[in-house]
Amino acid sequence: MPIHFNKSHKVWPIVTIIIGLLFSALSGWLTYNYYKEKENLRLDLASNEIILLVQNRMAAYEQVLKSGVGLFNASDMVSRKEWTIFVKEHKLNENFKGIQGFGYSEVVLPQNKHQHEERIRKEGFADFKIYPDGKRELYTSIIYLEPFDERNIRAFGYDMFSEKIRRIAMKKAMLNGKAALSGKIKLVQEFNTDIQAGFLMYLPVYKKGYKLDTPQERALAIQGFVYAPFRANDLMNGILGKMFPNIDFEIYDGDSIAKDNILYSSNSNNKSKLYKKTNITMNGHTWTLIFKTNSVFKSENIYVIFLIPSLILILTFLLYSLLNSLIKTEKNAVQIAKKATQKLQNSEERLRYALEGAGDGLWDWNLVTDEVFFSKRWKKMLGFSEDEIGSDIDEWKSLIHPEDLEHMDADITAHIEGKRDTYKNEHRVKCKDGSYKWILDRGIIVSRSIDGTPLRMVGSQSDISERKQSQLKLAYYLEIIDKNVISSTTDLHGKITKVSQAFSDISGYSKNELLGKSHNILRHKDMPSSTYKELWKTIQSGNIWEGEIKNKRKDGSTYWVDATISPVKNEQGETINYTSIRHDITDKKRIEELSVTDKLTQLYNRLKLDEIFSMKLASARRYNSTFSIIMMDIDYFKSVNDTWGHQAGDDILKEFATIIKNNIRETDVVGRWGGEEFLILSSESDLESAIKLSEKLRDIVSLFKFSFAGHKTASFGVSSYHAGDDEKTMVKRADDALYRAKENGRNRVEVEKYD
Ligand code: GH3
Ligand code: MG
Ligand code: MG
Repeated sequence: MPIHFNKSHKVWPIVTIIIGLLFSALSGWLTYNYYKEKENLRLDLASNEIILLVQNRMAAYEQVLKSGVGLFNASDMVSRKEWTIFVKEHKLNENFKGIQGFGYSEVVLPQNKHQHEERIRKEGFADFKIYPDGKRELYTSIIYLEPFDERNIRAFGYDMFSEKIRRIAMKKAMLNGKAALSGKIKLVQEFNTDIQAGFLMYLPVYKKGYKLDTPQERALAIQGFVYAPFRANDLMNGILGKMFPNIDFEIYDGDSIAKDNILYSSNSNNKSKLYKKTNITMNGHTWTLIFKTNSVFKSENIYVIFLIPSLILILTFLLYSLLNSLIKTEKNAVQIAKKATQKLQNSEERLRYALEGAGDGLWDWNLVTDEVFFSKRWKKMLGFSEDEIGSDIDEWKSLIHPEDLEHMDADITAHIEGKRDTYKNEHRVKCKDGSYKWILDRGIIVSRSIDGTPLRMVGSQSDISERKQSQLKLAYYLEIIDKNVISSTTDLHGKITKVSQAFSDISGYSKNELLGKSHNILRHKDMPSSTYKELWKTIQSGNIWEGEIKNKRKDGSTYWVDATISPVKNEQGETINYTSIRHDITDKKRIEELSVTDKLTQLYNRLKLDEIFSMKLASARRYNSTFSIIMMDIDYFKSVNDTWGHQAGDDILKEFATIIKNNIRETDVVGRWGGEEFLILSSESDLESAIKLSEKLRDIVSLFKFSFAGHKTASFGVSSYHAGDDEKTMVKRADDALYRAKENGRNRVEVEKYD
């Protein structure tokens, strides 16, 4: 759902800007304070550390000086050499950075000044004298100062008491018996270059055996001073190194931070701000420490301080732009949505009108509530009035034929589950009058929720009763054809690819037993292979073969078919398979056989003999060939009937017929001419071979042992075709010959007499 703005919501962008600016400022201020506090804490810690470092270091120097004092207390006189060794052992450069030297200054009374100078001169320093010159109440003379280098040698013999600042510190040390620091001085060792502020630390050395309880006693007992000169810069660099780069640190001598009093200043920066001012007192001397800082914040912190408010500002402006464009877009979107809704409504209405107009019934199914809207036409189609069917889906379902419900549900489910793009089903719906109409029902889900659940489905229904009726009829006819027409299809190699039920029924094989086999499976032994050769030749050359085929069933029995086998061609004219349609002609064949067969002997009857006779005559005339006939009559047959009865006569007739049939060629035809007379039509045989055959048959018959009668004989008359002959003339000559055979004693073969 889009956010809806009304007019008053136009203030939101402005409010956003104001809130954003406030937040930006607030965050800047908070960040600034956070880092400022953090920095203050850092400065506090740093300055305290500096103070501690300075105090500790000065205490350490004091300890060194004390050990120097201890050296004097331990012996009557400390020699120059002893002092040198002592100082070297302390390794000033390594352990006490910033200390310039480690010295001893002896107190010299005016009356002893000359003697003192002489003593030192005797040590090898010919020019030695206490300086500066002039008469003073008391002299102090620096006699030892290690390391005794170029710089320190300048202080050799210097009377530090002659100078006020040093004198104050020395007197303080002398009177208190403790270490004392001098004020700011310039060391006498200083060259022209790198002149630094300096100061000194003194510790008094008293003569042994003196009382040291009061300042006066200590003043009387003073012998000299162990001392150390410091150059302030060297000292502080030695202490601090580069530990605090961001902190400016100044040391002023005394309480005042007047420029003259400055002892030390770390790389002073004019822009630095005073951060902290504090006093420290060391050995009764006060230093004022000033801490300045050149930057309140580290540079990376500054970025952060500006970064957060900047980000908030950017976000604010983005939000402002977004809100502005949302207001604009929303206005447009509302317009577009309105138009789209209108369009949708229009098109939906048009769709409904179109469907209504097309005579289809329309339905609109809410899958959430299971309400279905049905169009007027739909109701009319089924014979209901407009107000008769409500929107209950179950009412609809109750109208659907019970046998079709399951299939229909499956089709709907397939669409809902996305297995099919649309829903489509044919089913029967009960009309108001109780009859059923075939309906083609089509539908599609038009709306789904975000998770894919279907919400709405619309569809249409068409009356397909007529089509369905003709479909059903067609299916019925096809079934009839399948059941009644013996048809099959084979591939180009003769393998069966399709057979009808009728084919299966007549052959006794199931469809499965036939598929993949060749028609050879049905071949009867009586069918000459020449027939099949001719069949294949015909269909392979693209022609239709028609003919009668004697087949063998699965159970071995015989059936006859009249087959039409046609090659089936594709669009390119290539043969793709062969189909055959067959008629069962078994009955016809049986009747045919019956009509040409003599019932008793199963040989051809007179009718068939006459038919074949005329065919032979026609062929002989046409090809100018010849054939012969043999007329046979059983001798004294009447006596058989008389002696053994008519039935015995019949049996002997059957036996005679079998003997003859089994002893002639396949091409010869034998039939019953009548009574106990038989005729052989011997193809393509001249008189001679016919006589030979007759003699052979006569012999066999005479030797055969018949039932009842035992041995019987037969007489034979033979004639051959001569040009101009017909059946009558040929039979006449054979008959005459037979008569003569009877006349001449029977069991004889007589030949025609032809002029
Ligand atoms: P032959 O020929 O040697 O001169 O003496 P035949 O006794 O055989 O004389 P013929 O040929 O004249 O007699 C034919 C007899 O055959 C007459 C008839 O009773 C008998 N006959 C004819 N047809 C049938 C038949 O179908 N069944 C039986 N049992 N007898 C038949
Ligand atoms: Mg006869
Ligand atoms: Mg006879």
